Amino acid sequence: MDPLAFVDEELEALKARGLFRWLRCMEGPHGPVMMVDGRRAVVLASSNYLGLSTHPRVVGAAVEAAVRYGCSVGASRLIAGNHELYAQLEDRLAALKGTEAALVFSTGYMANLGVLGALAGPDDVIFSDALNHASIIDGIRLSRAGVVVFPHSDPAGLEDLLRAHQHRRRRIVVVDGVFSMDGDIAPLPDLLAVARRWGALVVVDDAHGTGTCGPGGAGALAASGLRGAADLEVGTLGKALGSFGAFVAGSRKLIGLVINKARSFIFTCGLPPSALAAASAALDVLRDEPDLPVRLMDNARQVRETLGRAGFDLSPSTTHILPLHVGDSRRTMALCERLLDAGVFAQGIRYPTVPEGTERLRLTPMATHTADHLAAACRTIVECGAALGLPAARATPRASSR
Ligand SMILES: *Cc1c(COP(=O)(O)O)cnc(C)c1O
Repeated sequence: MDPLAFVDEELEALKARGLFRWLRCMEGPHGPVMMVDGRRAVVLASSNYLGLSTHPRVVGAAVEAAVRYGCSVGASRLIAGNHELYAQLEDRLAALKGTEAALVFSTGYMANLGVLGALAGPDDVIFSDALNHASIIDGIRLSRAGVVVFPHSDPAGLEDLLRAHQHRRRRIVVVDGVFSMDGDIAPLPDLLAVARRWGALVVVDDAHGTGTCGPGGAGALAASGLRGAADLEVGTLGKALGSFGAFVAGSRKLIGLVINKARSFIFTCGLPPSALAAASAALDVLRDEPDLPVRLMDNARQVRETLGRAGFDLSPSTTHILPLHVGDSRRTMALCERLLDAGVFAQGIRYPTVPEGTERLRLTPMATHTADHLAAACRTIVECGAALGLPAARATPRASSR
């Protein structure tokens, strides 16, 4: 008997359900138009929302840091890797988020694992929005805290659950700021008020709002008039900020706890100088070119309105992340391929990234797309959609357990 027989079985099972994943090949500088699997396409699948990964000031800072300091910080941060570039970047991030302090992590995935593990253990309970990102779900599992999934963006539902679990040692509410696959913003004022009423801590993961939403790109909390109001806020440097890495912002006291307890912070190498310097430069560009997030949202509006006129429902998005609902994994990937052949790259999103029955294309325009790029892309989407019987009536989600 072949002990590896399960590999083919598992992969075949994924293929049979239309859930097989594979890597595409992107060529050239990461921008609004690229070669994707050998086809030239308008890219509506990038998280480099502001185009900062190729901004001359960001690239220049990365090159200069590599030349000056080398390609590695040489150790984990608590050993010998805490290069001076960290302090400069963390001061800027705290200033952006309106907090006393910030701490850079190697990725947002690791930041969520580390933060939730630092705050909670088996005696505690974490209240998690039903549509939270996978890294939050995994962080909760790793913390061994109890988990209570509350209905998406439902402060009243959350309150009932907080009441039912008020006797646990600590209660922690965690939500995406801008939801990664639907582009809606969490009802942060109400969620924070409910959490405070029941003595719960609040963690907001604003991977997608950082650099894109709110005054100066400060994020979803700032957009809701609540800059710095969460206990801890996670953000990434790898999306709108065009670099690599992530951070958590909060009080000096809580950051001190995270430094001491977050295993995904302690037991890993620091980021390379180039990534740290690039992120600092990206924050400078965000300050000096305040038009960038405005252009991003204008571009999102163009796509929402153009496709809306053609009958596509891109709700509940109010941001630059636009879900084009298909509701079936095979049809989603068929549309994705057809679009790529016709010069538009919008990645199909399937289970378990989204609940079954809510498969969609996730359209993300960039600040650097021209109106012509987007008009042409929308025309193509309408044509290719029509060939597959879209837009269709919106499907009702089945299970949301991922
Ligand atoms: C992308 C993402 C992360 C992970 O950030 P990385 O820096 O890419 O690891 C975390 N949370 C959310 C909501 C995300 O969309």
